[in-house]
Amino acid sequence: MSNESINWDKLGFDYIKTDKRYLSVWRNGEWDKGTLTEDNVLHISEGSTALHYGQQCFEGLKAYRCKDGSINLFRPDQNAARMQRSCARLLMPHVPTDVFIEACKQVVKANEKFVPPHGKGALYLRPFVIGTGDNIGVRTAPEFIFSVFAIPVGSYFKGGMKPHNFQISSFDRAAPQGTGAAKVGGNYAASLQPGAEAKKANFADAIYLDPLTHTKIEEVGSANFFGITANNEFVTPKSASVLPGITRLSLMELAQSRLGMTVIEGDVEISKLDRFVEAGACGTAAVITPIGGIEYNGKLHVFHDLEKVGPVTQKLYNELTGIQSGDVEAPAGWIVKVA
Ligand SMILES: *Cc1c(COP(=O)(O)O)cnc(C)c1O
Repeated sequence: MSNESINWDKLGFDYIKTDKRYLSVWRNGEWDKGTLTEDNVLHISEGSTALHYGQQCFEGLKAYRCKDGSINLFRPDQNAARMQRSCARLLMPHVPTDVFIEACKQVVKANEKFVPPHGKGALYLRPFVIGTGDNIGVRTAPEFIFSVFAIPVGSYFKGGMKPHNFQISSFDRAAPQGTGAAKVGGNYAASLQPGAEAKKANFADAIYLDPLTHTKIEEVGSANFFGITANNEFVTPKSASVLPGITRLSLMELAQSRLGMTVIEGDVEISKLDRFVEAGACGTAAVITPIGGIEYNGKLHVFHDLEKVGPVTQKLYNELTGIQSGDVEAPAGWIVKVA
């Protein structure tokens, strides 16, 4: 595919087949040396554990075009480390950090023409590990595949950020000591029905409460929650079943170091939403989605405004996206240049 058919201003978040993807196979206790391939179809055993028992995990990160034409990866070491933790939780072999980052770099370079121009989105990278090989019993797979593919994606909000409304779900996405902190497909399978129900009721997505007491906010769809208090505090849930997002981690660090805020990882009681003057959901795909209101027991709790973005949310957004696209100086180690 050529990039001439891509309208950079119309890019959304849809699968587009790009030229090359990285593929490595684990067999007899080790990863092979890995190759770039044009084939976007995997040929795997019908007995693969990924198909039957959910033995798989994934990552998501973006490559950004800078004003000078160079390309930034944002904190890929953090994605590598998180994928290692996900693999450990599901008894899959881990991919070393240097192999992970090198695979991402190779995929970006091989698909360079698909990296959108500065400010027009990014090249989204999707690394994943799946259990493969002939098998039928419930056990870890005899073979694994590690792959990274790439698709160009647009800016999430065309024409600026806009608040969205969310609905508290009565479903759980993960169990208290389950796999909530691992980036695994099973959590997403569990979120499809609640997500669809929230969307049917005209909300952007479902919000999940803590699975033990159902009194505290944990996740906003497939993104992390944060709230801003009038006392200049950045608050985000602390729980063993929250996915430790890299956007969230970065916002916590920026809130403290650049905005002089107090960062609190703690309980976010659904009965005490009044303490927040702004709220948002954060993650690689959407960056920051400001939360206009949250519906709970038939009542909509409104934060800053249903239409306007709060000033602190806007500052955090500008700082983070500025760093990612090379316009704002990054904290040491956050940016890895592709070329
Ligand atoms: C990936 C993910 C996030 C966000 O993580 P980032 O590293 O910021 O992209 C948040 N919640 C869930 C459930 C996720 O899967």
